[in-house]
Amino acid sequence: MQDYSALRDAIRDVVDFPKEGIIFKDIMPMLAQPELLKLSVQAFCETAAGQKIDKVVGIDARGFIFGSAVAMELGAGFVPIRKKGKLPWMTNAISYSLEYGEATVEIHQDSIKPGERVLIVDDLLATGGTAAAAVSLVQSLDADLVGISFLIELEFLNGRQLLPTKNIHSIIQY
Ligand code: IMP
Repeated sequence: MQDYSALRDAIRDVVDFPKEGIIFKDIMPMLAQPELLKLSVQAFCETAAGQKIDKVVGIDARGFIFGSAVAMELGAGFVPIRKKGKLPWMTNAISYSLEYGEATVEIHQDSIKPGERVLIVDDLLATGGTAAAAVSLVQSLDADLVGISFLIELEFLNGRQLLPTKNIHSIIQY
């Protein structure tokens, strides 16, 4: 098992962001270091080791940072899931609950063909609502969901419980 403590050490806690009471995991110091950026992308690729992946789906917005790099490494295409109103073509959309209010995310209808093998990536798994919405969108296109990978998992929030697959990976846990 590879040692990812250098990634963990470069992730910064920001207290009371974006609002009081939240300790935000800020990955920007990690991303800014070339060797750690590379290590994080390699770690994501390891979670798909031995699996054929047709499309890597990245979740708006930090999922894009890892998604396209991981897609290139795996020889897959990249597909973004975006917040409502950003994608120009025909979309499938799903709304889900946030702590306060609702969010809607979308995917292009022609971005994944039925049966294509998909890996979903995002920076962080918290309550699981965002990733669960991403899974629903991928399933709405009749894709084959191979797995879901996160850089960070906040284990105490039990986000995995919302996700309808056992194939969930995280690189760093808190
Ligand atoms: P969830 O829907 O509660 O699992 O929240 C996950 C989403 O919120 C991901 O897309 C993350 O990018 C974002 N998020 C939540 N908390 C943090 C954090 O502490 N740092 C960075 N992103 C976060």
